[in-house]
Amino acid sequence: DVPLLAVEDLVVEYMTPSGPVRAVDAVSFVLARGEVLGLVGESGSGKSTVAQALARILGPPAMITAGRVLFEGSDVLAMHEDDLRRFRWRKMSFVLQSAMNALCPVLTIGEQIIDVLVTHERTSARAARERAAHLLELVGIDPARLTSHPHELSGGMRQRVGIALALALDPPLVIMDEPTTALDVVVQHEVLSKIAELKEKLGLSVLFITHDMSIVSQFATRIGVLYAGRLVEMAPTRELFRAPRHPYTKGLLGSFVSLHGPRRRLAGIPGSPPDLRRLPAGCAFRARCAEATARCATEAPVLRGIGEDHSTACHLVSP
Ligand code: SF4
Ligand code: MG
Repeated sequence: DVPLLAVEDLVVEYMTPSGPVRAVDAVSFVLARGEVLGLVGESGSGKSTVAQALARILGPPAMITAGRVLFEGSDVLAMHEDDLRRFRWRKMSFVLQSAMNALCPVLTIGEQIIDVLVTHERTSARAARERAAHLLELVGIDPARLTSHPHELSGGMRQRVGIALALALDPPLVIMDEPTTALDVVVQHEVLSKIAELKEKLGLSVLFITHDMSIVSQFATRIGVLYAGRLVEMAPTRELFRAPRHPYTKGLLGSFVSLHGPRRRLAGIPGSPPDLRRLPAGCAFRARCAEATARCATEAPVLRGIGEDHSTACHLVSP
């Protein structure tokens, strides 16, 4: 069975005057149909770069220098510009942190949704209007809002319009990059429940990118943890919370002991991520790792399976 999305040894480098800098280093994962895969990492971990590489919306100085991205078996990195434009709305669409960036301030919500529909599908203006109204209903917004401009909506509503736009052509995969980060907690919750509901209703697959473990735990089926451009741990959500194995994941989870217990502040990890331009030899997490040994200073750990559907990259962890 061909997975919806397979990423194989993806490498993205930023070309700088002092040479290439690896922002994404040999990242591999598979996303199955109907799955919500969470990609978690601090800022600078490469999570947004991975997302943008998948849809090939990265521009210079970033460059995909190795790896494969297979969508339903076909190679996205080999697609021509024409195929790519169709692919981006029909097969894989995006919801960004601030819908303000995706929405045009001078057009009404309806005009923008209809524009996407008539540009990409042979559809009558009337059918497009009906579809636009349906899309707004789907995300819990009164279709009367089709005549509103973006600035007339609240932040939470704008994010939901962003989701409606992403769903316009009914793509099987939606990539969401910090879709609720700019919202306050209550609105965040409302948008997240809407995403969870849509996932059930439409059988949507989602790649959900966030720096917040507590958000991703609510509806991701699996979670990948990125550190300094590499995947350091990947497991089904329950398994990751029950038995995190990488010291970085353990730190991220901190006091976050139970999926259902009271939520406490994340413990946080002392120190900051390494400068990608001057990555130390060995394990990139070493400077912050309380468990580091001499081997960690010289040899970089590779991601390997340590249990069913659970893998990690740490010298101290074995199956
Ligand atoms: Fe820590 Fe070493 Fe494991 Fe890296 S490989 S996480 S430094 S113990
Ligand atoms: Mg980002």
